[in-house]
Amino acid sequence: MSNLAAPLERLINELRKLPTVGRKTAQRLAFHLLKVPEEESEALARAIGELRRRIRFCRDCFNLSEEELCPVCADPRRDRTQLCVVEEPVNLISIERTSAYRGLYHVLGGALSPLKDVGPERLHLRELVERVQRERFSEVILATNSNVEGEATAVYVSRLLKPGGLPTTRLAQGLPAG
Ligand code: ZN
Repeated sequence: MSNLAAPLERLINELRKLPTVGRKTAQRLAFHLLKVPEEESEALARAIGELRRRIRFCRDCFNLSEEELCPVCADPRRDRTQLCVVEEPVNLISIERTSAYRGLYHVLGGALSPLKDVGPERLHLRELVERVQRERFSEVILATNSNVEGEATAVYVSRLLKPGGLPTTRLAQGLPAG
C-alpha cells in the first residue's frame, strides 16, 4: 500500500508510463508540480490536452501537423523533386535540424517488423506509391533507421518503387534501436 495521497499516486502512475521515467523520477516530477505556481502546472496539463485535440497527420506526408499540410509541405521554397522516406516524425525533425536537405518527406509511421506484427499494410506505403505516381520526383531517398527493421523496410520500399523506374538512394540515419 502506498502512503501517498491518491491524486499524487495517480499522477506518479501516469508519469511512470512515459519512456525513461522510473518510479523515482516520476515522484520527483510530481512533487515538483506541486511546488510550482498553479498556472505552470495547468499550462502543462493544457498542452497535453491540446496535443491530441490539435495535432493531426499531414495530408501529403504524414508528418505531424496542426494544419491540413505540415510546415514542410506548405513551404513553397522546398525542392519538390526530392522525396525522403523516414519512419517517424522524429526522424524528419532530426534531418531538418541538419538543414542539409531541402526536399519533401514521406513518413511511413514505423518500420516493417514481423516480430512486432507490423506488415506493409500498417505503414503508409500505398500512399507513398500513389504519391510517387502523382508527383514528379526525380529521386527517392530512403532514410529509414539503420537497424534490421529499417534496412528491411528500405529494401521493401526500393522494390516497391522499382517498377516506376524512380531511382532510390539509401541513406542510413538514426541510432540503431538497442
Ligand atoms: Zn507534410
